[in-house]
Amino acid sequence: MYEKIDKKYVLNTYPRNYTQFSKGKNATIFDKDGRDYIDFTSGIGVVSVGHGNKQVAKAMYKQAGQITHLSNLYLIPPQALLAKKLSELSGYDVATFFANSGAEANEGAIKLARKYGMRGKKKRYKIITLKNSFHGRTLATVKATGQSNFHQEAFAPYPKGFNFAKDIKSIKNLIDDETVAVMIELIQGEGGVEALCKKEVQKLAKFLQTKDILLIVDEVQTGVFRTGTFLASNLYEIEPDIITLAKGLGGGVPIGAVMTKHKDIFEIGDHGTTFGGTFLVSQVALEVLDILEKHFVKKYIEKKIKVFDKHLEKLAKKYPQIFLHVSGIGFMRGLRCTKEIDVGDIVKKAFEQRVLALRAGRNTLRFLPPLTITIKEIDKGFKRLERVLKKMR
Ligand SMILES: *Cc1c(COP(=O)(O)O)cnc(C)c1O
Repeated sequence: MYEKIDKKYVLNTYPRNYTQFSKGKNATIFDKDGRDYIDFTSGIGVVSVGHGNKQVAKAMYKQAGQITHLSNLYLIPPQALLAKKLSELSGYDVATFFANSGAEANEGAIKLARKYGMRGKKKRYKIITLKNSFHGRTLATVKATGQSNFHQEAFAPYPKGFNFAKDIKSIKNLIDDETVAVMIELIQGEGGVEALCKKEVQKLAKFLQTKDILLIVDEVQTGVFRTGTFLASNLYEIEPDIITLAKGLGGGVPIGAVMTKHKDIFEIGDHGTTFGGTFLVSQVALEVLDILEKHFVKKYIEKKIKVFDKHLEKLAKKYPQIFLHVSGIGFMRGLRCTKEIDVGDIVKKAFEQRVLALRAGRNTLRFLPPLTITIKEIDKGFKRLERVLKKMR
């Protein structure tokens, strides 16, 4: 019934699966007939604390009954506390602008960098990104996305000032006197769950500093404990000029964040948003961070990552005709498939076995489970996935 309504009234931009889900509990979701599915995707890295999280629901309900939104023209105590928490958890001395999505956070980062480029004699505005990157779907962020298949002629003209480097080593060669920033994901998500080399990233960060070029790290997917630490930047031991967050931060409510140590670039009126960092989403994000911090401190996340990792390694070893190797870090993982394999087909068949996985670039089967997933759910999910692989042999 809903499928018909959806097809008639919702614009057709997604290859949509029409199974009707009605509730969830942690990494398990249930369709309308009560069948359980193991969710190894968490809504593409969003539902970091699991589905139907009662603690989050309680915080949401309580805040909703008091005040949801007032606009950024007034003090929003939970927003202030959230910004403080982000600075503390990251270990960086940063201030934050709140947006509503990853693309929007990256737009904010681009604006901030361009304004930074006004300092000095010559205006600098160019931003270098990687060819295999993904930064969003707005005009600027889709242009910042280095994959040329995203730059459809239909949507041209795009904003100018983006250059694409083949890999991290070749970024240097693209720098000119108009370059103001380099924007990278430390682990490319949509691009194939590909982790950049830590040494190369550290070398780049140092080099950019000597040139007064900003390093923007897009942690929309890698942030908020996804890699096992609060930020991938912590793991890579770098201190970026700007960090963007979104996906996992709200545990399901829309939120984006631009964190920067350059606190005096934006002035009143330079940037803004109606919805960013409302009472409601900020309070929910505080609750999400509280839950995840506890799981982190008690080493639950670390322990479960190890279990997940064992399963992945086992599959890669057992099915060499399907998988080349395991990729990614922490709970942002991939199984790179051989050329002969159609990843979309595995995703589809896995769904029939009631386990959700994603496809990513470079022919990769992608996993982004809730960070609170139980070991039982992990074992169950892999058992189901293996049924698919066995049949493919
Ligand atoms: C998902 C993603 C985005 C875009 O986020 P939206 O919330 O969909 O706008 C940007 N950058 C990275 C690295 C992402 O994974």
